[in-house]
Amino acid sequence: MARVYNFSAGPSMLPEKVLRTAADEMLDYKGSGQSVMEMSHRSKTYDAIIKEAEALLREVMAIPDNYKVLFLQGGASSQFAAIPLNLMNGSRKADYVITGQWANKAYKEAARYGDAHVVASSADKTFSYIPKLDPATFTKDADYFYICMNNTIYGTKYHTLPETGNVPLVADISSCILSEPIDVSKFGILYAGAQKNMAPAGLTVVIVRDDLIGHALDICPTMFNYQIHADNGSMFNTPPCYTIYIAKLVLEWIKNDIGGLENMKAINEKKAGMLYDFLDNSKLFRGTVVKEDRSLMNVPFVTDDDELNALFVKEAEQAGFVNLKGHRSVGGMRASIYNAMPVEGVEKLVAFMRAFEEKHTKD
Ligand SMILES: *Cc1c(COP(=O)(O)O)cnc(C)c1O
Repeated sequence: MARVYNFSAGPSMLPEKVLRTAADEMLDYKGSGQSVMEMSHRSKTYDAIIKEAEALLREVMAIPDNYKVLFLQGGASSQFAAIPLNLMNGSRKADYVITGQWANKAYKEAARYGDAHVVASSADKTFSYIPKLDPATFTKDADYFYICMNNTIYGTKYHTLPETGNVPLVADISSCILSEPIDVSKFGILYAGAQKNMAPAGLTVVIVRDDLIGHALDICPTMFNYQIHADNGSMFNTPPCYTIYIAKLVLEWIKNDIGGLENMKAINEKKAGMLYDFLDNSKLFRGTVVKEDRSLMNVPFVTDDDELNALFVKEAEQAGFVNLKGHRSVGGMRASIYNAMPVEGVEKLVAFMRAFEEKHTKD
């Protein structure tokens, strides 16, 4: 059986070792006589799985004790509403930086509940950069300040964080969670849909500072209230059991096989470096993002010819490099090179691009 190199932005590749372990344990999880898919979420066996998943996430990400970890459903998109519903409880103002579609969707949702303010936007250049932020323009009494840390569609990433003082910084880290170390203490809330870099779809991880829990608006639905989930250990209702189990296997892989997030970062820098070096020297392809804001995870690129872009995507797929088509809103190509993409996959992609370039450049 040949596995392809899958450059999908999400759902995306999982480490082969994780898939093999899941396959081995599919019918009989550790002598329980059941699949993890089948067992009660209230069982002792499952309780050990969810507790271990949380403990591993805390260890791998070095999450301080004054933060809760919540395993929720509804995707990152549900958090666009949950954040204002839980945090817009003081001045009912919040600052947003619009660096792409996901940030914009979050902003629009917040504007339904309070006074959401756009501090800066990079819409003027198709979100190909992260705006320079001036703290003098921030709302002093905002309930929170919101960013999308890694912009999956456009391939940009914050390499420095905004200085928000006492205003809690909230970040969507869906497409960069676990890709490198992050100082959790700089944030009020970090959250991520799991299907990019952690697990299959169905799980949303929310890491929230204790003091931000327990002040939800009256209109906040019970299922969106962080306090409900914190008080019930993410077991207020049935959690996404199997996805949490896969996340546990992925975290074990990061801890034991990779050796933690510093090592993960070094591998990711190597992969992204190979691709960006090639793009910077190519006569046919070019990256679309300003250099200083480039993402480690999502690398968009183009040729200057739409037909050639389409041909590249087609021929790449035939050669076993799948899902390289750019997001429908931007066109071109995008290679998402999350944690599970092996170095070898990027090496082979670059070799394939080089051969394509030689065939299609006239000199
Ligand atoms: C994929 C993605 C989302 C949307 O996630 P869902 O789980 O599908 O709601 C939001 N933000 C970012 C940065 C993403 O990459």
